[in-house]
Formats: sequence, structure tokens, C-alpha cells
Amino acid sequence: MMSKLRKKELSGISKERSGALNPLQKINEEIFSFAALKQREIDELKKLEAFRKEFIADVSHELKTPIFAAQGFVHTLLDGAVNDRNVRSKFLRKAAKSLDGLDALVQDLLTLSQIETGDIKMHFEHIDLYRLCQEVVEQLEEKADKKKIKLKVEKNHQKILVFADWQRITQVVTNLVSNAINYTPEDGEVIIRFDIGKKNITTFVADTGEGIPVQHLGRIFERFYRVDKSRSREKGGTGLGLAIVKHILEGHGSHAEVESTVGKGSIFSFKLPRSRPDDLNDDSD
Ligand code: ADP
Repeated sequence: MMSKLRKKELSGISKERSGALNPLQKINEEIFSFAALKQREIDELKKLEAFRKEFIADVSHELKTPIFAAQGFVHTLLDGAVNDRNVRSKFLRKAAKSLDGLDALVQDLLTLSQIETGDIKMHFEHIDLYRLCQEVVEQLEEKADKKKIKLKVEKNHQKILVFADWQRITQVVTNLVSNAINYTPEDGEVIIRFDIGKKNITTFVADTGEGIPVQHLGRIFERFYRVDKSRSREKGGTGLGLAIVKHILEGHGSHAEVESTVGKGSIFSFKLPRSRPDDLNDDSD
């Protein structure tokens, strides 16, 4: 249909050039642009529909893994393993681990959908990013200690104030630092640093971990995309951490960047607008 309309439109133009007045030409042009607009909308809806189907298939698959595991352990216990003291506690621990994973997955799915539907409103204010990062480090210190990973925030002499949502950016830094610990072998290092520009402050989360091969870098922010599927699941990730990071930063008009060298480590970074003294005075008025 589009090509027919296009032909008619062109024939209209050539008639006009030849001096003949075509009263239908304007209507024809309007129909053509309307049809083009509708075609774009149809293409967009088709894409969304395909995306939705793929997402439901992914979620079902991700839910199945911990449910099947927990189910297996519980049934084996009921079938008699419950009488063996050692097997009993081992299987119960494994079932509990699978259910914890399931809980984390449902939490992350809920967060993602709430951000997408706009149910979570961003609450922007002037926040101390250094203090925020220190709080995240305190929360994740134990996890790092277990792997003897040195975790710290680099001290800065200037105040690091940005205009952002405290709770959401806490989630961004938590996800990035948590990944950095997950994908760094024992005795490694995870460091948070800042670069203070005139307008923006860039936060870097650098690790000395396994790194990410270049062909995967463009895809790791997609839902459930994992470089090494079985190993990432083993480490307990939901596969949604970076998708959540991406959405939250989009809500701040920003995005995450990543540089990585296999075997050496990765650096994730994001920019946030710097608060200026004038902004702060405005606040106190
Ligand atoms: P997951 O729950 O699997 O960690 P994420 O969305 O947080 O999911 O990350 C997606 C994938 O990106 C991970 O499975 C892992 O392969 C890779 N990745 C993320 N952060 C790092 C990092 N700091 N070092 C190496 N690989 C990483």
C-alpha cells in the first residue's frame, strides 16, 4: 500500500511540474504521511509484542530454576531422606538457598516493573554521594570480607554533592559494588572513586576481577543477559542487577558506561549533575 501511495504521490509531483494542477495531490500527501505514521506505530507495537513474549519466556525460565531445585530437595526429604540427620540439614539448606534466590528474583522483577510503569517516583534532592557510597560499603563489607576483597571509597577533599534520588542511587551503587565483589576472585580489590567536573560528578566502581569480553559489553545491561550463564547463576545473581541500574540512571537522564579487560578487571561509571552552592541556597529558602 505504501509503495502504491508513494507512486501516486510522485506522479502527482510530475504533473505539477508539467504545469497541470492536481487538486488531489494535497490529500494524497496527507494520506501518505498518515499511512507512514500508522506503519511506524504498527512496527513499534510488533516489536513490543515480540519483546513481551520473549520477556515472559525468560521470566518463566528464571522462575523454574529455583522452584525445581527447592521442589527436588523437599520431595527427596519426604521420600525418606528426612530420617538421615546429615542429609536432612544439607538438603534443607539447599532448598532455603533456592527459595532465597527466588525471593531476590521476584524483588528485582517488582522493582523493574515499578520503575517502568512509573509507580516509583524519583525523589530528587541534593545528596552527599560520598556518604551514600560509604553506607553501601558498610552494607557490603561482610560480603567482601568473606572473599578477602579490599573494599573502599577513595577519600576526596571536595564535597561530593549531586542532585539525585538517594534511595535509587543507593540501589545503583549497591548493584555495581555487589557485582564487582561477585566477579572478583579472592584477595582482589574493589574501589569507588569520583571525578569532579564543572557540571557533573562521575562515580567509578573499579574491580580487579575477571573482566568482560568485548563482544558481551553491549549486552550486559539487558535483562537476564549473562556472560557465563551457569557461573553467574551459581554466584547468586538474578540477572537483573544491571537492567535495574540502567533504568534508574535513565530516570536521572544518565547512563552507565563500562570499560573492561579480561583477566584484569572492570570499571563501571555513571555521571550525575553536580549541585552548585546556588542550588543549595535555593533549598534553604
Ligand atoms: P547477575 O545477577 O548475573 O550478576 P547483572 O545484570 O548484575 O546480573 O549482570 C549481568 C552480567 O554482566 C553478569 O552475569 C556478568 O556476566 C556480567 N558482569 C556484571 N558486572 C560484572 C563485573 N564487575 N565483572 C565481570 N562481569 C560482570
